[in-house]
Amino acid sequence: MSRCSICGNDYAASFEVTTAEGQRFTFDSLECAAQQLAPVCGHCGCRILGHGIEGASARYCCAHCAREGGEVEAVDNTSGS
Ligand SMILES: [Zn+2]
Ligand SMILES: [Zn+2]
Repeated sequence: MSRCSICGNDYAASFEVTTAEGQRFTFDSLECAAQQLAPVCGHCGCRILGHGIEGASARYCCAHCAREGGEVEAVDNTSGS
């Protein structure tokens, strides 16, 4: 039982996340975890909850945003090919 790093809720089922950099956070929900940890798309500003696309200087939520951000080669997974 510990307090959420984001909203301060003291919740019995809260959980801890350790980042690749070794920072530790406690969250009461995935919503709060995403607010703290999810990267933000360099083009549209939405939170990247999937794998996203890593560009040279920013991360993007999808290939469209990556292309808008200058990653001209970016493509989404396509069914055909
Ligand atoms: Zn919270
Ligand atoms: Zn985007």
